[in-house]
Amino acid sequence: MKTYLLTYLLTYLLILFSFSIKAQTTFTCGVIEEGNIVLNNFQPQNYDPDAKYVLNIFFTFINDDNGNTGSILFPNYQYGENEAMELIKILNVEFNQFNIFFKYKGYRVVNNSIMTMNNLSGLPSIPNMYNIYLMQYVGGANAYSIYGNTFIKMTFGTFEGIYRELAIIHEMGHCLRLAHTFQNYNINDPNNGPEGNCEHVTRDENSPLYNAHIAGDQVEDTPACLPYHTYDNCIHVFNPNETDCLGTPYENVIPSNYMSYDALIECGLHFTPGQAKRMRSYLQNPSLSHIVLTYNTIESLYEPFEITDYGGNVVFSVEDNGDGTAEVCRNLRKKHRFQKGFDYVFYSTFGDDPSTAIIDDLPVVKNSTASFYVQINQVNPAVSREVFVDCNRGFYCSTENFVKGLVVSTPLIGSYNFTVKELNDMEVKDPGLYESLMNQFYHIINKETESGAIKHTIIYKQ
Ligand SMILES: [Zn+2]
Repeated sequence: MKTYLLTYLLTYLLILFSFSIKAQTTFTCGVIEEGNIVLNNFQPQNYDPDAKYVLNIFFTFINDDNGNTGSILFPNYQYGENEAMELIKILNVEFNQFNIFFKYKGYRVVNNSIMTMNNLSGLPSIPNMYNIYLMQYVGGANAYSIYGNTFIKMTFGTFEGIYRELAIIHEMGHCLRLAHTFQNYNINDPNNGPEGNCEHVTRDENSPLYNAHIAGDQVEDTPACLPYHTYDNCIHVFNPNETDCLGTPYENVIPSNYMSYDALIECGLHFTPGQAKRMRSYLQNPSLSHIVLTYNTIESLYEPFEITDYGGNVVFSVEDNGDGTAEVCRNLRKKHRFQKGFDYVFYSTFGDDPSTAIIDDLPVVKNSTASFYVQINQVNPAVSREVFVDCNRGFYCSTENFVKGLVVSTPLIGSYNFTVKELNDMEVKDPGLYESLMNQFYHIINKETESGAIKHTIIYKQ
């Protein structure tokens, strides 16, 4: 057993190690251009720095036919709400500083081996959402998106590795109209994508060579660069042989921009202010009309992503269905669940309901029978909004199994002459229970359901 465990551990570490090493040098992204986008010279216009944007997000996890991810590390793992919540948390934590917020709209799981190998024909996107897909293979890259659109793919392996955060943030950057920082560094390479001409190194706006605002990634505060450079303690190492298309050596390249491939996590992954402005400008003036259909309201962030009814502690009625089950009606309660990724403050909650929550929490408010209030510090720490709760008058009924019981039998109510018989799981469900009781006796029958509700009956059997 020990040997087995050790072997397993070593194998696991080896896989992890080789994966990390590989991932260190190979974060790649397969962004593509859609034909109907206006390609060049997208420039900020009518820019409102105070506008807040809330984008709907929906997740699709594509397993193989057997319902497994098939990923290297966790081939049998079942992706679901936890992973969706983790991804939306990552997005909110990074983008909230730019007044861009993401509203969780759910997830689906699809089991289809062909689709998980990057063939999504026959699987429509959910409308009015940014659709994020996780699958085994996205086509020769870690992740993939459509420029300026609402579509992202990412491999399970990338989610499971050190580039989880980088990958989803990078792809969302493309969706919000950011190009790679090294866009068009080699103007002769047709795969270099859509944005203008080769970006020159100079940042002197008076220079006739200055083109940072219209070439490359069209962002002035991201230095012209290659996909990869050499760094010493996160400082760019000047190399006279690495030049732009005019022969000017690159200088002052900053590592770890989210839109570069120099993803040195230890150097601080980041967007620049110019990139933030470009993303927000795109949301204000999107090239594709359906982008605005993904927009939600600020108010929507304060609403729970899920409200479910459940039965409270007060039992109003227990009806024996005669088949070993009972219809149990309790006071109606409502469970409110809030998405991960924000620092919440809850006011007027009750019982053990949360009064605060941090970004890694998935808060649940379930005891409050009256309206309560939610504050989201990332949106506005001075504002709280009401969540209306009305569950005082309704009933919540459900079918439950009887699990045990007790029969007290006596010839005379109040007499000291009585027998007590406990009923087990089988006996309490027995349709012949009544027939088995003694004649000319009173019988006090208590049948208890799985939730502890009791059906209490007194009979006199002739
Ligand atoms: Zn990319």
